[in-house]
Amino acid sequence: MPGDIITVTKPSLPELDDLQPLLRQIWDSGRLTNGGSLHQELESRLCEYLGVEHLSLFANGTLALVTALQALGVTGEVITTPYTFVATSHALIWNKLKPVFVDIEPDSFNMDPMGIEAVISDKTTAILPVHCYGTPANVAEIQAIADKHDLRVIYDAAHAFGVNYDGSSLLDAGDVSVLSFHATKVFNTFEGGALVCRDAETKRRVDYLKNFGFADEVTVVAPGINGKMNEFQAAVGLLQLDRIDDVIAERQRLYRRYADALARVPGVDLMPEPGNTKWNYAYCPVLVRAEFPISRDALYKRFREANILVRRYFYPLVTDFPIYHEARRLAMPNARKAADQILCLPLYPDLSCDEFDRIIAVIQGALSAEERE
Ligand SMILES: *Cc1c(COP(=O)(O)O)cnc(C)c1O
Repeated sequence: MPGDIITVTKPSLPELDDLQPLLRQIWDSGRLTNGGSLHQELESRLCEYLGVEHLSLFANGTLALVTALQALGVTGEVITTPYTFVATSHALIWNKLKPVFVDIEPDSFNMDPMGIEAVISDKTTAILPVHCYGTPANVAEIQAIADKHDLRVIYDAAHAFGVNYDGSSLLDAGDVSVLSFHATKVFNTFEGGALVCRDAETKRRVDYLKNFGFADEVTVVAPGINGKMNEFQAAVGLLQLDRIDDVIAERQRLYRRYADALARVPGVDLMPEPGNTKWNYAYCPVLVRAEFPISRDALYKRFREANILVRRYFYPLVTDFPIYHEARRLAMPNARKAADQILCLPLYPDLSCDEFDRIIAVIQGALSAEERE
């Protein structure tokens, strides 16, 4: 008997009853979107919680990424990472920009700054790194290179909600950071996202761009898009924010349980918690190394057979999708190896002890496999 299905994540939700008064408020006001009162309240409460000054809410993270590139006037070529969700580089394509891919560091899974200078050309205008799994990218080195070559830095911080690095918000790094509030993320508004920028002037431009470019009733300053978050999403966000600390604490507790259990399993290495960081435990990434008795894909298959829907984030690499075959790139042995060994185990606050034990049992069972599958 394989048992009930365990998914890699399960959206964390507030009490339905707590939503009712906010829905009433929306119904009574008749204001459903276009920067209503809940939208405004969520923007200011998120600024406070995240420790940032300028934040603009979006309908989703991808539109925030597309808009970030517009707002900064990025042109030509942009240096980015192949080890991410496809939305990162898709946002470049939607802006008619050329992605240029460099390898990652083997331990952090983040863009290796060493690769950046080798691919800078006279067309390069920006760098688009990802804080993969919420682990801080090498922000100091990336900024030094950007300053030296006069490049903008846009962080895809979709995984990095609430992460502090070296005592301040990780979202302070670079010119702009973009968050995702998709159902699968640590903080969700069903769909949603936000753009964090450095000054009020940029935020004003971003707010025009997410509303078709309207500066006022009769003035359109740019060919903007419809990227607005609606009042229903904002209501969900306000309730989620009340409980986010508990959600992250519970994720941390589970992550450490995994760390304990996997410490005794040679060849299955849980990503160590990053140093100097208040982390958010967004994912549970393990590498299935060559010394483990069976391959990553064989272990993946055993999980599936046990109804445990682990995921291979991020396999395939973005550069392996045919639409990116022509893109300029460096060799990427570290990204390739990570994509071939990675497995993200289930991690969410409601994961029960029984479910946890079932997950560990699959790994233990594979340990005694007779020969490498
Ligand atoms: C989830 C995600 C996005 C896209 O965010 P959406 O809100 O789903 O549009 C972008 N980049 C990364 C790395 C992501 O994980």
